Amino acid sequence: HPDRRNLSLLTPSGHLTLGNLLGALRPMARGQHEADCFYGISDLHALTTPHEPTRLRDTVREMATLLLAAGLDESTLFLQSRVPAHAQLAYLLECTAYTGELNRMIQFKEKGRGVDSTRVSLYTYPALMAADILLYRPQQVPVGADQRQHVELTRDLAIRFNNAYGPVFTVPEVAVPAAGARVMRLDDATRKMGKSDASAAGVIALLDPPDVVRRKVARAVTDSDTGPDAVRSDPAKPGVTNLLEILTACGGSAEGITTYGALKRAVTDAVVAELEPLQKRYAELAADPAHVDGVFRAGAERCRAVTAPVLAAAEAAIGL
Ligand code: ADP
Repeated sequence: HPDRRNLSLLTPSGHLTLGNLLGALRPMARGQHEADCFYGISDLHALTTPHEPTRLRDTVREMATLLLAAGLDESTLFLQSRVPAHAQLAYLLECTAYTGELNRMIQFKEKGRGVDSTRVSLYTYPALMAADILLYRPQQVPVGADQRQHVELTRDLAIRFNNAYGPVFTVPEVAVPAAGARVMRLDDATRKMGKSDASAAGVIALLDPPDVVRRKVARAVTDSDTGPDAVRSDPAKPGVTNLLEILTACGGSAEGITTYGALKRAVTDAVVAELEPLQKRYAELAADPAHVDGVFRAGAERCRAVTAPVLAAAEAAIGL
């Protein structure tokens, strides 16, 4: 797989959830056999919104340990801030981007526009994300709908830079991500189970102990249909559909299950069984932080080597 590169960055904005495991970490682990994978923790992106330094450091450590526990040890794992080329190239791309196009970014419009205390870095975030991508010269960038506009901008910046200064960047294609399960919140199946609110009752964090998983699943919203075929996937029954998807994604089966109580017990068992080896491995790795640090240090070193020629070419082309 030397010619193909996979690249994925996770922002340390909270505790990783079952949604992140099934929708991101599992596909990332599978990708390891198809490509040379670079998986990063984008700690710089976590600075774009109000943060607390100690909490950030703890979140990064937990995430680093979980990535290893999830079996991503065949990849190059790194912290974005330990590869200075990301911030350096981001500046050159800020000098390539126009305020008009950053103004059009939906995520900025939704999250920060017009608020005086919005950090400038939230506004320039797409330039850093473009650097994250272009430094590794991936042929494809698989992203969900929420990041699509940012990858389109990345392409525009790469093309503009290449036209103005010379062919430095590989222009990546926007790809559809490898199908992973989309997990919704247990208390509200219209919202995805994300890490920004992993403390919530409807969100299963990867490090939740079995009794917490049991309690959260027990409180999951189902619906009022209690007929003989109540346990079925149906757009009109989003809570039940979500539980069935979680069950299947965690290797369980709904065969013979006719009541919501039985469904919840099966979901609990499947999720607990899915998380158990991960949590066991996490505990072992957490007891050996020097090992985790070493993996990420070696990863950053490889990233620095891989990205240095791209940054150097960009600097030379732009006239530095
Ligand atoms: P979060 O909402 O957890 O902060 P991000 O937007 O940072 O998530 O996404 C991190 C990765 O996890 C992405 O690959 C995203 O597709 C995946 N992901 C996040 N939430 C879910 C979910 N509920 N179901 C499936 N995948 C998810």
